[in-house]
Amino acid sequence: MMAAVADMHVQGELRYNEPMSSHTSWRVGGPAETFFVPASIDDLSSFLAGLDKDTPIFWHGVGTNLLVRDGGLPGVVVSATKMLRHLEQVDRYTVRAGAGLPCTQLARQCIRWELGPSEFFAGIPGTVGGALAMNAGAHGGETWERVESVRTIDRDGEIHERSPAEFTVGYRSVTGPANEWFIEGTFHFEPDVMPSMDTLKTMLERRKTTQPLGLPSCGSVFRNPPGDYSARLIEAAGLKGHRIGGAEVSTKHANFIINRDEATATNIEELIEHVRQTVLDVHGVELQHEVRIVGEVPA
Ligand SMILES: Cc1cc2nc3c(=O)[nH]c(=O)nc-3n(C[C@H](O)[C@H](O)[C@H](O)COP(=O)(O)OP(=O)(O)OC[C@H]3O[C@@H](n4cnc5c(N)ncnc54)[C@H](O)[C@@H]3O)c2cc1C
Repeated sequence: MMAAVADMHVQGELRYNEPMSSHTSWRVGGPAETFFVPASIDDLSSFLAGLDKDTPIFWHGVGTNLLVRDGGLPGVVVSATKMLRHLEQVDRYTVRAGAGLPCTQLARQCIRWELGPSEFFAGIPGTVGGALAMNAGAHGGETWERVESVRTIDRDGEIHERSPAEFTVGYRSVTGPANEWFIEGTFHFEPDVMPSMDTLKTMLERRKTTQPLGLPSCGSVFRNPPGDYSARLIEAAGLKGHRIGGAEVSTKHANFIINRDEATATNIEELIEHVRQTVLDVHGVELQHEVRIVGEVPA
């Protein structure tokens, strides 16, 4: 039987009017009408099966690629990251990871298991589920180059085992069966690559010098256009340091927008639009968002 969220019995936690600013790396965003933290896969399955089919569902990782508008998110935000953190070696070169596992932990454990190329995952501050949804990548590596299979859950709470052939994967873009979300990924690594903690350390040090890592951001705002870099185009358009309210185009890396001083999501979205329009006017290049912008415009 379908039920309104407030009448549903769950083992996990149901929070109402949960501020999404606590769940995004930009530290902005209005409230989620309902924020569900399931206690187990069974809890998640029965919640989804019982949920009214008209209720919007938004799947949340840890919000490192997310701009939630100040009006917040209607319906249910599912935050299944805490209970999906398993990581196991299936055979010598194959690893199975829960969607809630931080990518940094996947990278570090693979290095201990002498599996590579895996260190690029350490450059991605989100979860395995977020990396699967975004085809996240860094330092020449991309998530889906490593995927052998995934497990998903659908709106009815049914679990599916799916192969990469069932998804269309591109640069920071993944399209698959509608109304399904990742709960696990199985990854295959190369037998002949020997990654090391030193490589990882050097890679992270390089990030520290080129990116504003101490300040709230969402990483790269725009995808790189073919044959060029968004950061170069934004810098050449004279936008480094440009501010709207508390949002600022980073002076360290022009494709980052930082929450410099109590920015709102509206400030950030307006700045994103200003950058997009200016780059189009100056260079004739239409930049595409890498960040996902969701939620309602405030009334
Ligand atoms: C400082 C910094 C540096 C960054 N550097 C990089 C980088 O080098 N390379 C890179 O690719 N990204 C980078 N990012 C962006 C971000 O970390 C990645 O896009 C990451 O994959 C997002 O994961 P998340 O768990 O935070 O997802 P979220 O931001 O919570 O969600 C992002 C999208 O994925 C969807 N999603 C999340 N989990 C699931 C799931 N289980 N099933 C289905 N859909 C899901 C959400 O609905 C949303 O649409 C950076 C971000 C920051 C803040």
